[in-house]
Amino acid sequence: MSTTERTFIAIKPDGVQRGLVSKIIERFEVRGYKLVAIKMVQPTQEHLETHYQDLKTKPFFAGLIQYMKSGPIVAMVWEGLDAVRQGRAMLGATNPLQSAPGSIRGDFCIQTGRNICHGSDSVESANHEISLWFKEDELCSYKHNSQNLIYE
Ligand code: UDP
Ligand code: MG
Repeated sequence: MSTTERTFIAIKPDGVQRGLVSKIIERFEVRGYKLVAIKMVQPTQEHLETHYQDLKTKPFFAGLIQYMKSGPIVAMVWEGLDAVRQGRAMLGATNPLQSAPGSIRGDFCIQTGRNICHGSDSVESANHEISLWFKEDELCSYKHNSQNLIYE
């Protein structure tokens, strides 16, 4: 496992509008993950359809795209050991009613269609999503000041 694993995490329009940006960022910061990219964006329909291309045939697809288009999104890349799997665990289950208390969705939202955040589900999809949402020069390479305190 690599300490340079990266995951794509996004705060969806409802998370932004509900004032949860700082709280969601804080979870990853205090855990010890390193922020390598962040921006606020209002993606096009086409961009969102590409992001969710695997779900194109699902009955909720059109509603999902409408939801994701309803306002700005905060897009981020977080780096660290097991970042993809831990990121998903920190977000909680897709359905917030099944998300454990202590997870982001378990603490801040109630319904699947308004579940405030996105996280990559594998290293492969993380790499794909990072390149879809960020240009290479938007990703920052630097050493975390606390690297030696977070890792053995
Ligand atoms: N979604 C929905 N209804 C469903 C399943 C999913 O509205 O029955 C939405 C929800 O916002 C979810 C997103 O579609 O976060 C992507 O679905 P996925 O199964 O990839 O869940 P995730 O990876 O976000 O946990
Ligand atoms: Mg998914």
